[in-house]
Amino acid sequence: MRKKPSQAFIALGSNLENPISQIQQAFDELKLLPGTHLISQSSLYKSAPVGRLDQPDFINAVALIETHLSPHELLNALLAIELRHGRVRESLNAPRTLDLDILLYDNLACRDEVLTLPHPRMSQRAFVLKPLMEIAPDCTIPGHGHIAELLTACNEQKLEQIMA
Ligand code: ADP
Ligand code: MG
Repeated sequence: MRKKPSQAFIALGSNLENPISQIQQAFDELKLLPGTHLISQSSLYKSAPVGRLDQPDFINAVALIETHLSPHELLNALLAIELRHGRVRESLNAPRTLDLDILLYDNLACRDEVLTLPHPRMSQRAFVLKPLMEIAPDCTIPGHGHIAELLTACNEQKLEQIMA
């Protein structure tokens, strides 16, 4: 019998070349990943850039998938989607057509050259926590705490919900 699928939360972000449609297309592409179902998707949010301020606002969202892909297979599949969206890796915090990050993969902790789980910066970023809270209000981030408390701690970061 086939093993039960894993649950993974994916963060989607874009601030170039029609970010709203980049994110909407990316949701559709997640549905097409092998051995994977899209279980839920948050609404879209607009956030100001972090780190490097001279770039357009971002559109952000979070998806929950169930998948038979391993964490590294999933990461490679997400990087392939980013490439199809014309993603160029310039520098940290640079503008991008599409960024797909694995936030959580079951309760797995991982730290190797290519993959860190839970995602290292997720617990301080309102643009990740807010859409995550929308689809997983009881979520706890291993090693960091309950999502509602983490979100309260970064409530000075402004975020605009742009679609229901
Ligand atoms: P960022 O998302 O931090 O802006 P990039 O999208 O350029 O940066 O990703 C750089 C590298 O981060 C990827 O090539 C990937 O190997 C690594 N990485 C480590 N952990 C994760 C994760 N949880 N999700 C996605 N990428 C990750
Ligand atoms: Mg990334």
